[in-house]
Amino acid sequence: MDTITSIKSSEIKQKAPLRPIESLTDMCMACGTCSAGCPLTGIEGFDPRKIVRMVLMGMDKELIESKLPWLCTMCGKCEYACPMGINIVSIIRTARGMVKRENVPGMIHKGVELCLKTGNNIGLPKEDFIFIIEDVGEELAGESGFSDFKIPFDKNGANLLHTLHNKLVNTQNEDLKHWWKIFHIAKEDWTIPSQNWEGVNWGLFSGDDEAMKCFVGRIVENMEKLEIANLMYPE
Ligand code: SF4
Ligand code: SF4
Repeated sequence: MDTITSIKSSEIKQKAPLRPIESLTDMCMACGTCSAGCPLTGIEGFDPRKIVRMVLMGMDKELIESKLPWLCTMCGKCEYACPMGINIVSIIRTARGMVKRENVPGMIHKGVELCLKTGNNIGLPKEDFIFIIEDVGEELAGESGFSDFKIPFDKNGANLLHTLHNKLVNTQNEDLKHWWKIFHIAKEDWTIPSQNWEGVNWGLFSGDDEAMKCFVGRIVENMEKLEIANLMYPE
């Protein structure tokens, strides 16, 4: 009868870069609490417990080459629920970072490249951004009770820096007005940066650490330059 060959822990580690902290995945007791809390469990074969087990078994390559890491919304419910404190979201994000950039699905890597070049994920030139935002602001000023509404670009010393989700600038401009109405009625002292206004960090979602740091750094730079203490981040 064939015997089962045991695999040494050090051998798994060599083959499995997703296991830099062995003790974490090794502690999984397959209870399924993460799967029960995950909104995606069962969709296209997705299951966070399966992901943890794949890492535990040294199946990094299979995981990285699968679509599983990209199905996750990174909401963190699984990790919050896990009784063993396993860093499931970090595992998934690390797996994403190990995918060749040209194989990143959808448009998020393209958005990262555009953001690095232009300061926003849709590659909108500064003058077009200002035109769109001022246009929506003028529409709001036409509504009853908002006649004195103006968009405060790059206001030094404001209380709040308002970064924007690119989809609100691109296709869902009307939703911007909800925020602005609240600011106006609450007499908030706010401002929008005319450059590097992107509030969605696709470096975070695509597993690209360098890009993520760059985008965070730009927001910090805007806050320091304009001497602003508070940030509104739409994600
Ligand atoms: S909740 Fe934690 S311990 Fe339970 S299966 Fe998921 S990862 Fe493993
Ligand atoms: S972070 Fe991903 S795996 Fe965890 S619960 Fe949310 S969607 Fe599911």
